[in-house]
Amino acid sequence: MDMQTLVDDIAAYAGAAAPAGTVADYIPGLSRVDPDRFGIAVAMNSGEVYTAGDADIPFSIQSISKLFTLALALDEDGDRLWTRVHREPSGTPFNSLVQLETEAGIPRNPFINAGALVVTDHLLDTAGDVRMRLLNLLRTESGNSEISVDPAVFASERETGHRNAALTHFLASMGNLRGSVLEVLETYFWQCSLEMSCRDLALAGGFLARGGVGADGGAVLAPRQVKRINAIMLTCGMYDAAGDFAYRVGLPAKSGVGGGILAVIPGRCTIAVWGPRLDRSGNSAAGIAALDEFTSRTGWSIF
Ligand code: GLN
Repeated sequence: MDMQTLVDDIAAYAGAAAPAGTVADYIPGLSRVDPDRFGIAVAMNSGEVYTAGDADIPFSIQSISKLFTLALALDEDGDRLWTRVHREPSGTPFNSLVQLETEAGIPRNPFINAGALVVTDHLLDTAGDVRMRLLNLLRTESGNSEISVDPAVFASERETGHRNAALTHFLASMGNLRGSVLEVLETYFWQCSLEMSCRDLALAGGFLARGGVGADGGAVLAPRQVKRINAIMLTCGMYDAAGDFAYRVGLPAKSGVGGGILAVIPGRCTIAVWGPRLDRSGNSAAGIAALDEFTSRTGWSIF
């Protein structure tokens, strides 16, 4: 199979396959994006990168950042994190408050907002400088030293983040926050505002397809932690659509409301796709169609 032909075909197909869906509009920085953009990048474990469409245009990674903070938190403090956050699919929207109250302040998983806020708090407490650690990881693994935050998106996240503020205060009221509400929120908004392209994301996530081995051949994470992160991506990475995504695509993946999805084929490659129109669960409609096509044509689903 010729991988370049495949990604070219998918780029041509995906836009047309997903004309519906609406761009995230809770902040101007996201609503201004051209809804018909589409990019795909496949980074093979052997080093080749295949791209098509808008694969080099940076976009807001939003919740895909939760994947990288989880990797850093597990690397820094190992399994102690799991006393503060569970590992079960939520079946509720990513920003839901309801479950947190009925489950005594322990979020269902690290990829819903409540869980990601706990991960960021845990990392601030155990590692200190989260922003520098995260930037270092993303820049080193992607090879792109320009990766940074979009200041306009960051400012808007802070202005409009009432629900995230409510979640963080609630975590504090339930005794599941170690740092200050303000610092955790600021760090979380900052990580959501990072801008990366499909190429950057596919390369940055490469260690998840290589059993924890980083771009330079050193260990980013222990193999057992990578196995676990991939499992949590499979069960929780697409929020309450994780079941349907597993059915259609069959890969561990993490989405963000900027329209990006990073998917992992352990032992083989990572795939990053970007299409700003979102479905009702807040996942990229074109991105899901593209990944469905990718695993159907390659047979590279994990199932
Ligand atoms: N900044 C968004 C939020 O916190 C990120 C959500 C997402 O990408 N699903 O609500």
